[in-house]
Amino acid sequence: MFDKKVGAVEAPVAETKSPAPAIATKPEISETQLTLASGANVEKLLIGFGADKTTSCEISKAFSKYVPNKSLKSGLVFNVTYIRDEKGLEIKSFSAQPSYDKKVVVSKNNKEYVAKEEVIKLTPVVHVFEGSVNSSFYSAALRAGVPSKFIQEAVEVLSYVVNFQHGIQAGASFKILCEGLSNEKGQIVKIKQLRCVTLQSGGQEHKLFAFNQGGKTRFFNTKGESVVRSLLQTPLNASRLQVTSGFGMRRHPIMGYSKQHKGVDFGAPIGTPVLAAGEGKIIAAGWSGGYGNRVHIRHAGGYETVYAHLKCINKNIKPGALVSQRQIIGAVGMTGMTTGPHLHFEVIQAKRHINPMKVQSLPTVKLTGIALKKFESLKSTVQGEMMNFVRTKAVTIL
Ligand SMILES: [Zn+2]
Repeated sequence: MFDKKVGAVEAPVAETKSPAPAIATKPEISETQLTLASGANVEKLLIGFGADKTTSCEISKAFSKYVPNKSLKSGLVFNVTYIRDEKGLEIKSFSAQPSYDKKVVVSKNNKEYVAKEEVIKLTPVVHVFEGSVNSSFYSAALRAGVPSKFIQEAVEVLSYVVNFQHGIQAGASFKILCEGLSNEKGQIVKIKQLRCVTLQSGGQEHKLFAFNQGGKTRFFNTKGESVVRSLLQTPLNASRLQVTSGFGMRRHPIMGYSKQHKGVDFGAPIGTPVLAAGEGKIIAAGWSGGYGNRVHIRHAGGYETVYAHLKCINKNIKPGALVSQRQIIGAVGMTGMTTGPHLHFEVIQAKRHINPMKVQSLPTVKLTGIALKKFESLKSTVQGEMMNFVRTKAVTIL
């Protein structure tokens, strides 16, 4: 937001037309920036700058009309204009931007300091973040500048349809289209919402579009099918999972599905929360030989899922208990027969083991009729925005 260096050197401002030397020189107005230290407040900051106690107290009181002392955040930058001469220091104005859309300005009105709030004019814009995955989707998206809250959301919607460890190859590319707000300088100061996520890995492409229906926003694939499936492809908090061929994984051979190995392994740090892949009923939870701590869940449609080598099983996960999708059932561990910390995940359908990566359980919603028509038109708008996007705007999220 601020171009000038924090705590920048005082720079003389205005006074472009210098008065004739013979006339008594007008006092020179200077401008600087002050940064609020942790534990400090406006009064302390101004006293530290050289203002007297009465002035500091008055400005602080005026400013606190809009930003109470207790909601001041350290690091907040104040713009100060002032005159410093033989008579001492006079603060002309004191302002800060406590949020992306508001500015509070304290200035001297006759003899009193008065605060006013200014609303910053912002314009809606579309921004496309893009990058390629090296070690994990999360770190790649972070590097591309996506705010972590929206990476988490992208990970959540993708984890229904993508195995975050074996289903993404190093070098996979992604695009995340967001709606944001930009200021008058063209800087994006706020990302408001995710509108489209695309992930391309190997020959596979996932394109997910946010679509609002009846006040509720959900993600749909290109066919208008809800991305929410009855079973997750990645039953873990996937945000920090490393892709199989990524750097960190080379030393830990993590197994895919085969005749001998009837599940997939997710290498993840001990303690990573393990989520129920779908809504269901617990049929077993406890120690089970080589599996170590193991949870077995029965779902609708003849599906069952198994989670093994858990460090611990949550207290309420007992045979007969009902679980919802994404409910935490335990944590990644290395109990039973295992060489390192990982989650062993099995999917059973009609009593037979199937490759969890091949499971594309049914979408929970499929758009039809008018909703589908609306979705089709939104899809082509978003695809057009994605194609026509030109990277010109800097992103400076406050
Ligand atoms: Zn395994």
